[in-house]
Amino acid sequence: MAITRLTLNKKSENQISKGYPLLKESTVVSWKGVQEEGTLIDLYSSQNKFIARAYYGRQNKGFGWVLTRDYDQDIDQAYFTERLTKAFDRRKKYAEDPTTTAYRLFNGEGDGIGGLTIDYLDGHYLVTWYSLGIYQFKDLLLKALTTSVVIKSVYEKKRFDAKGTYLEDDDFVMGIAPEFPLIVLENKVKFAVYLNDGPMIGFFLDQKDVRDKLKTSYSNGKTVLNTFSYTGAFSIYAALGGASKTTSVDLANRSKARTKEHFEINGLLAEKESIIVEDVFNYFNYAVRKALKFDVVILDPPSFARSKKRTFSVFKDYTGLLEQAIALTEVGGTILASTNYSNGDMKWFKSCVQKAFAHTGKSYDIEAVYTLPDDFRVDEGFREGDYLKVLFIRVLG
Ligand code: SAH
Repeated sequence: MAITRLTLNKKSENQISKGYPLLKESTVVSWKGVQEEGTLIDLYSSQNKFIARAYYGRQNKGFGWVLTRDYDQDIDQAYFTERLTKAFDRRKKYAEDPTTTAYRLFNGEGDGIGGLTIDYLDGHYLVTWYSLGIYQFKDLLLKALTTSVVIKSVYEKKRFDAKGTYLEDDDFVMGIAPEFPLIVLENKVKFAVYLNDGPMIGFFLDQKDVRDKLKTSYSNGKTVLNTFSYTGAFSIYAALGGASKTTSVDLANRSKARTKEHFEINGLLAEKESIIVEDVFNYFNYAVRKALKFDVVILDPPSFARSKKRTFSVFKDYTGLLEQAIALTEVGGTILASTNYSNGDMKWFKSCVQKAFAHTGKSYDIEAVYTLPDDFRVDEGFREGDYLKVLFIRVLG
């Protein structure tokens, strides 16, 4: 494959040399000569020293990713096989655990190839491509995958328009197409997975440690309000942990059947629980009117959401959301506050909590802090890849 040679800007020369893997528009002196997505690029310093080999792929985050810092490393079949094998070795603990059959197998730059993730779902493999550039390597990647492991099937999701949103397409790639839902396990808890139903598969793999903490330390005998509940993943864990009652609230019509399904496949009585299809903000007003209080309130909203009445953005509105949650939480109760908003860090997130409590005049104690679990490997040179921020907050009087 032909490789285009580009010169790094002074500032990025230092950054990229130190291990930063993401290429931006400003990373090189000029992008002239690079047109096609998937073009391999050799990055040189102003002193003509080889720094790294990368690929060009436009995505919401940037212009491409470093693939290797070794001049002699070809980006070929063996390269992809080596990266995959290393990633699989790092997940041995999951592979050997029969009580967990769903996890992230390859996490982009955290495993050495930005713009690409692979999820393992009980022998089925879900490959997500974040740029047309990385998609050019599809054949090499699939060959590397199928020669490394025995697959039941491979699905793919393409998220490479300018905003990183999902491109509706046929997702089935190879193997024998399964019937959906696939029932997978996470710490013995069952989840129903649909790989043929839009961008989301039925649950978010990155919350496993948080769900487990909720179940073991914050559920027994408690009333739990799960807002932005999607398919009820937190509610299921809470119910399994002995919650006296869970209330799940989500705007999406389908969330009701999917939450019910999750209760049922786990041997729980859905009738005992409350599953409400409604705008969370309307529900908050209703709950305040009825003077409802909960022992645990879970907040895990999407980063941006548009409903009929309002637009919600985590960056602008999380503090207000917390204030509403505080009003519904018993003194001595807990708020589980979560976000995957990647442009704000933990310091910003904690400042939202601090502001919200200051406005309501209550005090609080942060009892537990979570970021991504270990299968969502983060590149040391790219800490911003750890987008998950979760706080267990005790509400004091
Ligand atoms: N907490 C969930 C994931 C949330 S995904 C989990 O752990 O699995 C975001 C969810 O928010 C989606 O299901 C979407 O339908 C819902 N949503 C977005 N805006 C909403 C609103 N204003 N009120 C209620 N739900 C909303």
